[in-house]
Amino acid sequence: MTRRKLVAGNWKMNGSHAALSELDAIAEAAAAHTSIDVAVAVPATLIAPAATRVPALSIGAEDVHAADHGAHTGCVSAAMVKEAGARFSIVGHSERRADQGERDADVKAKAEALHRHGLNAIVCVGETLDEREAGRAEAVVTAQIAGSLPDGAAAEWCAIAYEPVWAIGTGRTPTAADVAAMQGAIRAKLRAMIGEEADRLRILYGGSVTPDNARELLHVADVDGALVGGASLTAAKFVPIIAAA
Ligand code: PGA
Repeated sequence: MTRRKLVAGNWKMNGSHAALSELDAIAEAAAAHTSIDVAVAVPATLIAPAATRVPALSIGAEDVHAADHGAHTGCVSAAMVKEAGARFSIVGHSERRADQGERDADVKAKAEALHRHGLNAIVCVGETLDEREAGRAEAVVTAQIAGSLPDGAAAEWCAIAYEPVWAIGTGRTPTAADVAAMQGAIRAKLRAMIGEEADRLRILYGGSVTPDNARELLHVADVDGALVGGASLTAAKFVPIIAAA
């Protein structure tokens, strides 16, 4: 089974209108590397200007509310980010699970909201350092998959991102063997849940991906791309990661 790789950026709470100029070279690299998909998730306020600036590049949101509208002060819905020009959203990022107390059921509902509106979802999972050191990493992550995978998950619109919490923004990464083991465990869990479709779903790796380690991490067995935080903020760092895929 060959799966097209997806290299997705996640700007988190970074960026500005001025920083959107970085997207020009990223869009150029995306156009040049036709065998992979490239996407960038930006803060909600930058979705519309980013999508207008680089219409060929897949621009996405970093989160959406599970509801379509209503009394949810400060939140944005899937329909809203779609209208702004988003084609996808990240859901269940560990920073939201930690800072906003999002649970698996919330993440699942958000991914389903995206699908209702014709948007793609990148569903994030990952263990903490304590959980890894306690030997519970696979149990934690497969339980997150069980709870967060949207109903009807299909490769056309849903991807998984495995991001060990302790690797995010720390410069630390798991070994290639650890990544391979976890990607395999996630794939096995997906097979148990959705059968053959599991072999079509993309499972990304995320956590301190840089131009220096991208080639190794992106070619680990069962790694179908990367979710890149800090190194996606500048074309100088993100373009080499696109090239490494
Ligand atoms: P990082 O973030 O690449 O800065 O570690 C990854 C992420 O949180 O998606």
